[in-house]
Amino acid sequence: SSSVVKGANGKVTGKVTPAVKLARKQEAERLLEGRKRLPVYEVRDEITKMVADNDTVIIIADTGSGKTTQIPNALMRSSTPCEAPRVVVTQPRRVAALSLAARVAAEVGCGVGGLVGYTIRFDDKSSKATRLKFATDGALLAEMLADRDLDRYDIVVLDEAHERSLRTDMLMGFLKDIQKRRREKYELWEKEVKGKGKEKGSDARDPSPLKIVVMSATIDAKRFSDFFNAAPVVYVKGRQFDVEVLYAEEAQADYQEAALKTIFQIHMKRPPGDVLVFLPGQDDIESLTASITTYMKDLATTYPSRGSLLICPLYAKLAPSEQAKAFAPAPPNTRKIILATNVAETSVTIPGIKYVVDSGMAKEKQYHAAVGIDSLVTESISQSSAMQRTGRAGREASGICFRLYTEKDFLELEKTTKPEIQRVSLTFAILHLLAAGQEDVWKFDFMDRPSKESITAALLTLHGLTAIDAKGRITSFGRQMASLPLEPVFARVLLSSFAEGCPSDIIDLLSLLGSRDNLLVNTVATRDAANLARKKFVHRTGDHMMLLNILKAFEDVEKDERKTWCKDNFVNLKAMNQVLQARVQLRERCERLKLDWEVSAGDDAEPVLNSLVSGLFANTALLQPDGSYRHTTSRRLINVHPGSTMHNKKVPAILYDELVLTTKTYARGVSSITPNSIRTKAPSVFGN
Ligand code: ADP
Ligand code: MG
Repeated sequence: SSSVVKGANGKVTGKVTPAVKLARKQEAERLLEGRKRLPVYEVRDEITKMVADNDTVIIIADTGSGKTTQIPNALMRSSTPCEAPRVVVTQPRRVAALSLAARVAAEVGCGVGGLVGYTIRFDDKSSKATRLKFATDGALLAEMLADRDLDRYDIVVLDEAHERSLRTDMLMGFLKDIQKRRREKYELWEKEVKGKGKEKGSDARDPSPLKIVVMSATIDAKRFSDFFNAAPVVYVKGRQFDVEVLYAEEAQADYQEAALKTIFQIHMKRPPGDVLVFLPGQDDIESLTASITTYMKDLATTYPSRGSLLICPLYAKLAPSEQAKAFAPAPPNTRKIILATNVAETSVTIPGIKYVVDSGMAKEKQYHAAVGIDSLVTESISQSSAMQRTGRAGREASGICFRLYTEKDFLELEKTTKPEIQRVSLTFAILHLLAAGQEDVWKFDFMDRPSKESITAALLTLHGLTAIDAKGRITSFGRQMASLPLEPVFARVLLSSFAEGCPSDIIDLLSLLGSRDNLLVNTVATRDAANLARKKFVHRTGDHMMLLNILKAFEDVEKDERKTWCKDNFVNLKAMNQVLQARVQLRERCERLKLDWEVSAGDDAEPVLNSLVSGLFANTALLQPDGSYRHTTSRRLINVHPGSTMHNKKVPAILYDELVLTTKTYARGVSSITPNSIRTKAPSVFGN
């Protein structure tokens, strides 16, 4: 938006001209008109009073009623629990944290990183001046490692609590204890120190009791209230216009095709209004974009008067500048078609939506005990998710929701989605509990307790990673792992690379893996040309060294020629730039841990592969006499993904960084390793 001053490198700069200040002020005044009409705006004083009178408050209001944008802002302006309170608001998703910080900064009339800021993994735009910060729940958990009682905040707002993300659930457990300790600290200070004056020159903040606000879009208030010692609940009645729900008459074999048909039916037959389409994942969004584009061309020649379509993708990994398109108004005589994942279900509000098309599917993380990994699985959504999706059509006027499944199917859906903590691997969670000082993980206060088996499995994995010792105590290695912004297995890979002599290469590789999904341009039409162009990067050991080769070649090219280079080699420039950004963050993180990351193994693949094995020993498979690969411990059949350079190659052992479960079990990101390295690099698992 125009209210953010950007320097050449895209960072917010310190210099704000009077013209910018004036523009911000005018924009804030303009936005105030709309804010005044939000149901939450009307009751904001009652809410701040509730928070003043109670340690914890639960707030329930429909999506779009102004919870996220208005409540933290009002709390920041209140004098609860102290003058000029500092507020942190958690979000389960990066996209939401970014776009909400931008929105609230605009409403307040400041730049992002000033009074209002955000912190997400690999990106921090907050400063000393920041009093209202949006953070992913993961980023706030990470802060707890250095600031155990979250002393730098006076109010913690847990937003989107109904989503029950793993990290939000962990925060809930921690916050109960933190609140108790903060209260004790405050009372002690009040009795013994207050009023005696501070030491000269000390800018330390006085202790304050911690306020907790839990915000949710659905009516499961009782669970939250019970968990937080019968905390009071505020219900804010939303303004929801009628939404007509239309079901498919019969079950659809292919939701993409059904979505395509429905989009064009809306465009041809229904009055103006934007369309929000819910799809499971980025791959669906990309292929549907391609088919809409094809049909659109035909349509423009046959029905030139029908107006055009503007396709806006919206998913978690999309670059912020691309995401912004979905929120901007459509040009005249144009219908906006937003192709979104779950991101748009509750956490962001997109103006102008009149039609919702619901595939009924979402990608969900699920734990597969046999192979010991989480994997994203496309699953049917719950009834409560379907209702949230429907509600997105009735924010500004009445709307229509097209469900691409039958009414009978809807009635058979689960009522609510299971909390993530009961579906995913707990390796991260348990490591974090230990690192944050929870000595007995079995005693942690979970709102919904994970199964014994999954806690045990996590402890075994952590032992394999040498993050805990035989007695279950965290090791210093484990502490370092917890402080890296990586899943424990990848943190282990990075830490091992220092002993192997290749940290610089592993940092490159981990940064590449973070953007891998959109790093290489792979469409059906360009596949052969792309493979030919990228042949020069292929490495005999497989995909990981190839990714490093691509990055090296990219960096050898002058900056102003990189765009052309990317085009010629079918590489996505934006994704490459994200890789460079992630790399800076990982390097800084290592510097903070006093680790010298600058060592590289050059062209030697062995240290890199050895480092990978030390963390990903559970992601390995051995060649069988019949030519197939079987998982090292579970003996499950593993297929090499057709997109891998190791597809159809037979080597004694492979390592992969991701397992994709469809009708078959596919390994993605595959390298050839020696069977012996599995034994030597993971001795605690395979014995010696
Ligand atoms: P809730 O948290 O209750 O779902 P929000 O506070 O996110 O509601 O949004 C309240 C209203 O603010 C929305 O209905 C919308 O009108 C407006 N809004 C929020 N974010 C944006 C944005 N990025 N762009 C434009 N309008 C927005
Ligand atoms: Mg919200």
